[in-house]
Amino acid sequence: MSEQRQRPERSPEGAARRVVVAGAGMAGVQTAVALRERGFTGPVTLIGAEPHQPYDRPPLSKAILLGKAEGSAFDVDFEALGIELRLGCEVTGVRPGAHELDTEAGPVPYDVLVIATGAEPVTLPGAEGVPGVHLLRTLDDAARLRPVLEQRHDIVVVGAGWIGAEFTTAAREAGCAVTVVEAADRPLAGALPAEVTAPMAAWYAEYGAELITGARVASVEPGAVLLAADGPGAGRRIAADAVVVGIGARPATSWLAGSGIARDPDGAITADDRLRTSAPDVYAVGDCASFPSARYGARLLVHHWDNALQGPRTVAAAIVGGGDGAPGEVYDPVPYFWSEQFGRFVQYAGHHAAADTLLWRGDPAEAGDAGWTVLWLRDGVLVALLAVGRPRDLAQGRKLIQSGARLAPDRAADPSVPLKAAVA
Ligand SMILES: Cc1cc2nc3c(=O)[nH]c(=O)nc-3n(C[C@H](O)[C@H](O)[C@H](O)COP(=O)(O)OP(=O)(O)OC[C@H]3O[C@@H](n4cnc5c(N)ncnc54)[C@H](O)[C@@H]3O)c2cc1C
Repeated sequence: MSEQRQRPERSPEGAARRVVVAGAGMAGVQTAVALRERGFTGPVTLIGAEPHQPYDRPPLSKAILLGKAEGSAFDVDFEALGIELRLGCEVTGVRPGAHELDTEAGPVPYDVLVIATGAEPVTLPGAEGVPGVHLLRTLDDAARLRPVLEQRHDIVVVGAGWIGAEFTTAAREAGCAVTVVEAADRPLAGALPAEVTAPMAAWYAEYGAELITGARVASVEPGAVLLAADGPGAGRRIAADAVVVGIGARPATSWLAGSGIARDPDGAITADDRLRTSAPDVYAVGDCASFPSARYGARLLVHHWDNALQGPRTVAAAIVGGGDGAPGEVYDPVPYFWSEQFGRFVQYAGHHAAADTLLWRGDPAEAGDAGWTVLWLRDGVLVALLAVGRPRDLAQGRKLIQSGARLAPDRAADPSVPLKAAVA
């Protein structure tokens, strides 16, 4: 760690320091709110590129897409909290030496900067600008997709990840014909092992969607998607009134070029265990930043909602505490996320590695409404779990992971035994 990182904030009294937050999504909003909750009385400015009142993203691929909700604006009274909102304003650069942020509306000085610019979806090469091709990241994206669902179009979804699965679910519920093209040999290949995704792949057909795995998109033209000449569905031309691309997201940090703030090759800001960046008085939180996890012995980049809720608390504590990081404010969470897909509630907590031991708790082929859970153990200690329709397993398992509990495999594998009663 550099000397700069260890020095306290410039104004230890706190109140006079000006905190500027770049990015007005979940992590940015939560940072501003957490500062006030912790008694920070100095000026707080929240700058966001989108013109909309700050909003929550998970409903975009669920209720909002289906027209069951109009919006998902955060229930936060920014004015009452004394948080200055600058919306529709893109941040274009930062000069840490001068403690100045550059925006399209001019420079903004800061004493403390929090970077929370989130992530942006990866686009499909060759499909940018083709009419009918959509991404799903913003409220505007969801607004464009809503009429597509209402008109029950034929849709091709590219990518069978979390977003692809949730969009497919909504589109099928709206009555659209959906074909999903996935380059890997299975859904969620980057997140879960093959034996766990095998039952999940069947959910597509069960919901009336066609899933083509191992297939590459050769080109997208108005009204159709063409598959590559080799592999499954070779050369097939699939009619598509709309194409929804869900092939991942990258940290939205290109605006940091030239700032000197350290990032990894994927663009994630490499924060330390208190979410400080390599520049003095600059923090990074949410989808845009990775952090070292002592718990998992790995650097984690987490693109999930709970990380954008928990991380800001650490940042706010560090800012209010003077920036030198009080003991106990290290950020090392048990990551958590959920997904609603194909009529199922899927939850995951922790972090697993390929070498961890996988333990089934319930058989997907027979479990039915009772659901099933997969546990990952490292030297007998629970490190992660995936629960499908078993929120109690998730709640108990999350606590067991937090406490580093060792499980008795025979009891843990029995779904009739509460997970907390399976502690060795
Ligand atoms: C459709 C969808 C569904 C999801 N569903 C789930 C779910 O069910 N469960 C779950 O755990 N997670 C879910 N997630 C993930 C979760 O929403 C994200 O992890 C969370 O939004 C991250 O918050 P963030 O503030 O870090 O980033 P973001 O939400 O991306 O917010 C960053 C903000 O910064 C702004 N910004 C970017 N660059 C600049 C710039 N240069 N200047 C100014 N502003 C800028 C962006 O416009 C954006 O508003 C979902 C995500 C999406 C897109």
